[in-house]
Amino acid sequence: HQSNGGSDNHLIKIPKIKFTKLFINGEFVDALAGKTFETIDPRTGEVITRVAEGDKEDVDLAVKAAREAFDHGKWPRMSGFERGRIMMKFADLIDENIEELAILDTLNAGKLLSWGKLLDIPHAANTLRYYAGAADKIHGKTLKLSQEMQGYTLLEPIGVVGHIIPWNFPSTMFFMKVAPALAAGCTMIVKPAEQTPLSALYYAHLAKLAGIPDGVLNVVNGFGPTAGSAISSHMDIDKVSFTGSTDVGRVVMQAAATSNLKVVSLELGGKSPLIIFDDADLDKAVDLALLGILYNKANNQICVAGSRVYVQEGIYDAFVKKSAEKAKTWVVGDPFDPRSQQGPQVDKKQFNKILSYIEHGKKEGATLLTGGKAVGEKGYYIEPTIFTDVKEDNIIVKDEIFGPVMSLMKFKTVEEAIERANTTRYGLAAGIVTNDLNLANRVSRSIRAGVIWINCYFAFDRDCPYGGYKMSGFGRDLGMDALEKYLQTKSVVTPIYNSPW
Ligand code: ADP
Repeated sequence: HQSNGGSDNHLIKIPKIKFTKLFINGEFVDALAGKTFETIDPRTGEVITRVAEGDKEDVDLAVKAAREAFDHGKWPRMSGFERGRIMMKFADLIDENIEELAILDTLNAGKLLSWGKLLDIPHAANTLRYYAGAADKIHGKTLKLSQEMQGYTLLEPIGVVGHIIPWNFPSTMFFMKVAPALAAGCTMIVKPAEQTPLSALYYAHLAKLAGIPDGVLNVVNGFGPTAGSAISSHMDIDKVSFTGSTDVGRVVMQAAATSNLKVVSLELGGKSPLIIFDDADLDKAVDLALLGILYNKANNQICVAGSRVYVQEGIYDAFVKKSAEKAKTWVVGDPFDPRSQQGPQVDKKQFNKILSYIEHGKKEGATLLTGGKAVGEKGYYIEPTIFTDVKEDNIIVKDEIFGPVMSLMKFKTVEEAIERANTTRYGLAAGIVTNDLNLANRVSRSIRAGVIWINCYFAFDRDCPYGGYKMSGFGRDLGMDALEKYLQTKSVVTPIYNSPW
C-alpha cells in the first residue's frame, strides 16, 4: 500500500461542534448526573470534544417523554400522509447540511469524507424519503370469517422503541432504524455508539426543525453497560432494535426477556464468504474481493465484509498474485484527503484488536501475503492485510475481525465451496463470482445467509431487506420488511347479522 499518513495538505474547515448534550423531549439537556465523556478523533487519538454521558436516569426521562408522545401525542395519531410530509422535510434538511454531517462522521468515525458526502449522508436522507412514501400505505387485511362474522386487521405502531446502534455507519444505521419506526408511528430513544455520538445529535436537531413533535425522537449518548443496558432492560420500552456484536446481542436479548419481554430484533456479526469460481474474470474478481474487505467507505469495519475469500484452484495462483499487487497500491491516510482510499480504524481498542488478530494469524502458520502493520505514528491506521495458506479452523477465519484483514483459501469443487462457506456460526452475507448463471443460482440457494451478492459485493439498496441467518441475528433492516418490525397486528371482529352475540 501507499501511505499519505495523516497528511494535512487538504483544506477542510472543520466546523465548530454544535451539539454535545442529550436530546430529550425536544430539548438538548445535560445528563442528570452532570457527567460527560470524551469523543475521539481516530486520525490522531486526540479529543474532539466532550459529550453528555447518559445513564439509567436519563434513559428513564427519555422513555417517559417517548411514552407520553406515544400514548397521548400527535405522531401516532396523525395521518400517515402527514407523517410522511414531515419526514420528507427532515430529509431535505439533511440534504442542506450534507457537508457538515459528512465532516462529523469523518471526524468521529474516520470514514472517508468523499464517501460520506456521496453515499452515507444522501443515503440517510433517501432512506427517510423511502419510508416517508410508505407511511400512508400501511394497511391491514379484510378477513373473511364464518358466515355470521366479519373482521379486519389493523397494523398499529409497536410503541416506544429503543434503537441501539454501532459506530461503523453512524448515519446509515441511524436512519435504517429511525426511518421505518417514524413511518410506522412509533416514538423512540436512540443510543448511538459511544465512539460516534456527533451526527446523531445533529439529526435530533434537524428532526425538531422539520416538525417532528417533542418526545418522538430522543437521543441518549452513553456507554453500553449503562445507557444501553437501561434501554434493553426498561419496563416501558416495547421493542429494542439492536445492531452490534453477537456477544452484546445475546445480553440485550436476555435483558429483554428478564424485563418486560419486549420484542427484539438483532443484526449481529458476520464472517461472510466470497466464492470465486474458475470462470470468473480475474480483474473483476480481485476488485470485488478487495471491495468486499477493504471497502473504503467504512474502513473495512463492516459486518458484511467478505473476509473469507474462497478461490477455485484454476485461478488461485493468479488471484493471489494480482490481489497482492492491487492491495499494495491501496492508499491509507487521512480520511479528509480525497486521495485516501482507507482511513483509520475507529478507536484504539479496535486497532489493537485487529493487530492482535494479525499476530495470531502469523502464529497459527498462515502466510502474510501483504500488509500486517500499523501505518504512521499517530492515529489508528492499519495496512490492508491479506493472509494465504489459511486453514478452516484458524482463529482468523472463524472470528469476526472487523478490520482490513482478508483470508484467501483454495477450493476444488462446488460442493466443497458450499460446505466450507457454510462452516461458520454466522450467516449475514455471501458473494459469488462466476459467469455461469446456473451455478450462481444453485450456490445462492445453498448458502445460509441473509443476502447473496452475485458478481457484485456490498450492493446495498433501500428496497433490499438486510439481516442475518444463524448467529448473525434475526429481523431485517431496510425494505418493507423493516417497516413490519415496528408494527403489530390487531384483529377486529364483529358480527354481520343479528347473531346471538
Ligand atoms: P462493537 O463491537 O461493534 O463496538 P458492540 O456490540 O460492543 O459492538 O456495540 C454496539 C452497540 O451496543 C453500542 O451502541 C454499544 O454501546 C452497545 N452496547 C454495548 N454493550 C451493551 C450492553 N451490555 N447492553 C446494551 N447495549 C450495549
